[in-house]
Amino acid sequence: MTARELLQQVAIDRGDAEGLLANALKVDRAWLFAHGDEPVDDTCARHFMEQATARAEGEPLAYLLGYRDFWSLRLSVNRDVLIPRRETEHLVEWAIERIDAGAQRVLDLGTGSGAIALACKSERPRVKMCAVDGSQEALSCARANGESLGLEVDWLYSNWFDTVPPGCWDLVVSNPPYIAANDAHLSQGDLPAEPALALIGGDTGLESIEHIVGQAPDFLLPRGWLLLEHGFDQAEAVARLLRTKGFTNVSTRQDWSGQARMTGGQWLS
Ligand code: GLN
Repeated sequence: MTARELLQQVAIDRGDAEGLLANALKVDRAWLFAHGDEPVDDTCARHFMEQATARAEGEPLAYLLGYRDFWSLRLSVNRDVLIPRRETEHLVEWAIERIDAGAQRVLDLGTGSGAIALACKSERPRVKMCAVDGSQEALSCARANGESLGLEVDWLYSNWFDTVPPGCWDLVVSNPPYIAANDAHLSQGDLPAEPALALIGGDTGLESIEHIVGQAPDFLLPRGWLLLEHGFDQAEAVARLLRTKGFTNVSTRQDWSGQARMTGGQWLS
């Protein structure tokens, strides 16, 4: 069968099908158009058909391809990690602003595939970056990404701050799980295939954020910053948690789609 015929056979989004076929053939998408009438090797064709079936059944494209592009990086991903989202790139932008304002020791809490830590490190190689995760499997994925990208990050197995050295961080950044356990979104799109640990914050969705805000002052240096991604409707609650804890300069920023997506504050004392 030819590439064109294979693409016509499958009942999935055309862009996804092209991505999967190009990946199976180890070519780029443009190749599929230039060589659409050439026969495709049987093993590749079979692999593509299996992947297309899995995609039709809801397997995320990123897990099938084995990667997701985030920032300027191609990150390997698998079912042990959250698939990096575009909105999190805005958190990276904010973190880089803080690094440019003088933050030298930066902690990424709940790093997953390593997305935030690696993006920051790739942009600002001099920063001392530590990234933790409470899943050994996620940490192996992150570590492998760091190695293949040649970016030096201290990878630490830790449930939030549990094994993190206190009192020495200029910046703590996190995209924690923040979805409520009964939220209908959990059954939509890629979410059913992603690790619950990376998605669900607890019954209200805010539990992980509450925990991080509660602990962060013991870990931040005076004038250090805490930057948190959160759900589109959680900005006020997160800002309140930060102010109540004693953070100042609390502000919220929007993501590319105009949603209030991240809130941060500074620890002065
Ligand atoms: N932003 C993701 C979503 O709503 C969830 C990521 C997270 O919980 N940190 O799909």
